[in-house]
Amino acid sequence: MNIILFGPPGAGKGTQAKLLQDKYSIPHLSTGDIFRTAIKNQTPLGVKVKSILDAGQLVPDETVVDLVADELKDPKYDSGFILDGFPRTVPQAEAFDEIAENQNKAIDAFVVLTVPEKELISRILSRGQGRTDDTEEKIKTRLEVYHEETEPVQNHYSSKGVVKEIDGIGTIDEIFERIASSLK
Ligand code: AMP
Repeated sequence: MNIILFGPPGAGKGTQAKLLQDKYSIPHLSTGDIFRTAIKNQTPLGVKVKSILDAGQLVPDETVVDLVADELKDPKYDSGFILDGFPRTVPQAEAFDEIAENQNKAIDAFVVLTVPEKELISRILSRGQGRTDDTEEKIKTRLEVYHEETEPVQNHYSSKGVVKEIDGIGTIDEIFERIASSLK
């Protein structure tokens, strides 16, 4: 099963992706995690993207698309994957259509976690992961970027009939149950 987990920062994508990974035994691919690891290890990619992540802005489409195309060639994704944080712009979604076709990996579900904005900000501020982009100012920037650049990606998938909107308010288990039953 090939799943895209979609929603604003703080919606719980990372948490739910990990639970889905365990339930369906398919790997979680988070572009944000890849960037944070690269920054921590000071790789050329990390050096390139550090100031972008710190500012709450988006890494250029070409960099992200190349990274995902390459990563998905790993045979561990042959039986499925959970994409978290990608695609985040319409050009990324269009590029991903091509990758998915070339690699024979059609998307089965585009799961959208919906959470009101006020709740997002308080969730991020209280999650205390020590992320440099988790300050109130950066969260506001990330939400603006989300509305402008990322939200339109949902329309891109509507026409494919794979969108599943999930109420992202509740306990982690409740939300997970909603996602799991939408995938049946
Ligand atoms: P996340 O962990 O998904 O919230 O991503 C953290 C940061 O990594 C984002 O604020 C962006 O700076 C960068 N990033 C992650 N995924 C993407 C993407 N698909 N396109 C552009 N930038 C990304």
